[in-house]
Amino acid sequence: CGIIGITGAGAVVPRLIDSLKRLEYRGYDSAGIAAVVDGRIERRRAKGKIRELEAVLAAEPLSGTIGIGHTRWATHGAPTTANAHPHKAGRVCLVHNGIIENFAELKAELEAEGRVFESQTDTEVVAHLLDHKLAAGLTPLDAFKATLDRLTGAYALAVLIEGEDDLILGARRGSPLVVGWGEGEMYLGSDALAVGPFTQKISYLEEGDYVAMTRSGARMFDASGHPADRPVVQVSASS
Ligand code: GLU
Repeated sequence: CGIIGITGAGAVVPRLIDSLKRLEYRGYDSAGIAAVVDGRIERRRAKGKIRELEAVLAAEPLSGTIGIGHTRWATHGAPTTANAHPHKAGRVCLVHNGIIENFAELKAELEAEGRVFESQTDTEVVAHLLDHKLAAGLTPLDAFKATLDRLTGAYALAVLIEGEDDLILGARRGSPLVVGWGEGEMYLGSDALAVGPFTQKISYLEEGDYVAMTRSGARMFDASGHPADRPVVQVSASS
C-alpha cells in the first residue's frame, strides 16, 4: 500500500522506517524492508504494525546504505509474514503496490520451468520473472522492461538486484510513484509524503514510466522505452 526506496549516502534502515510511519495513514496489515549488506540482500518482515517490524529489527538489526520498504494491504494471500513484502527470487528483491491481474498464468509458466514459490501473493511472480530474465543474460534495465511488458494490472514497484550496489529500479502503471532528488542520494516513494523527510524536490512518474535510480541521479523512461525526463518540481515541506 506504501513504498519507499533509498539509494543512500548513509545508513537507510532508520529512514526507511521513518518513511513507512508516514505512510501508515493509508492503512496496511504488514510491513517489511530489505537492504544490501556486504553485497547481499537481507530483509526483515512482520505482520501487523510498524512497531512489530521495529521489534524484529531490534532482535535482528540490519545495516546498509541502499534499501526498500513497504506497507502491505493484502489483496492476494492472507496478511502473514510469509506474504509480506519484500519478495525475493534469486538475485531479485522487490516491493509492489497494486494487483498483477495475470499472475496465475505467469505463475503456472514459471512453475513449469521449475521455479518454487514461497508466498500466495500475486507479487512474487514479478520477482521470479525478472530473475529469470537476468539469469538469461539481460541487463537489469532490459530485463526489467521485458518483465513489465508481461504484466497486466496495476503496479508501483521498487526493486533491488543482488550484485547491483548502486541501483533501485522503479515502475508505475495504475499506482502512483515519485522520484525524490537529494544531495548524493535519491529516493523513490509512493507519494511526496513518503520522501518528505528527505527532500522536497520531486519528479512525478507518468503512467507506464520506469526508472533506474542510483545515488547520483535517475534515468527515466516511458512505456515504450524511450528516455523521458519528467520535470523536477518543488513541493511544500508540509506535504
Ligand atoms: N497485491 C499485492 C499483495 O497482495 C500488493 C498489495 C498492496 O498494494 O499493498 O501482496
